[in-house]
Amino acid sequence: MTGPLPIGLTGGIGSGKSSAATMFQSLGVPVLDLDRVGHEVVAPGSDGLNQLIQTFGQSMLNSDGSLNRGALAAHCFGSAEETARLNALMHPLIWQAEALWLEKQQTPYVIIEASVLLESGGAGRMYGVIVLLADESLRLQRVLARGDRDAKAFAAIVARQCSDETRRAEANWLIDNNGSIEALQQQVTVLHREISATL
Ligand code: ADP
Repeated sequence: MTGPLPIGLTGGIGSGKSSAATMFQSLGVPVLDLDRVGHEVVAPGSDGLNQLIQTFGQSMLNSDGSLNRGALAAHCFGSAEETARLNALMHPLIWQAEALWLEKQQTPYVIIEASVLLESGGAGRMYGVIVLLADESLRLQRVLARGDRDAKAFAAIVARQCSDETRRAEANWLIDNNGSIEALQQQVTVLHREISATL
């Protein structure tokens, strides 16, 4: 492999992925937010959105031409077959965007932040995976304080994501985010040094 080594950063909702990603960025490590890429590849007017419409129909569009995520989620919910069709379409689009971004980076390693990295089989594309761990009750508290999700939405997302047991099993590095922001910063700094020293 040439170019920077991709290192995945994942963890459950509210585990501190965005916070840790920002810290890596401050240390000079480029970060790609794969959840954002997943939105960008189906932006209005994109090939990705056209493919989605060809596969799932015009009813997946809002009146302004953007993707109706609620309709798509409702369509795929509970159907392994439709979910597989959606993944078969989305994953290559995301991988391609990731590869193009990776080619442009010039640091020894980069961080690929993704909420469902392990669930989507993405670990295989990574040089290694960092997993953030925090107790679910604390994650809920932090998400409620963040203010973008209520307890019901939090529970629904947790139910779709893999367990911390699975994450631990796939992790090359673990970050314990049950402590303060300073404790998180400290672990990110140490990990950055450790990773940089091995490359
Ligand atoms: P994720 O991206 O994994 O969903 P975030 O990084 O957004 O998680 O963290 C969830 C919320 O908790 C954010 O508002 C963040 O500022 C806050 N947070 C993260 N880590 C800590 C910590 N160690 N102590 C207190 N608040 C934290």
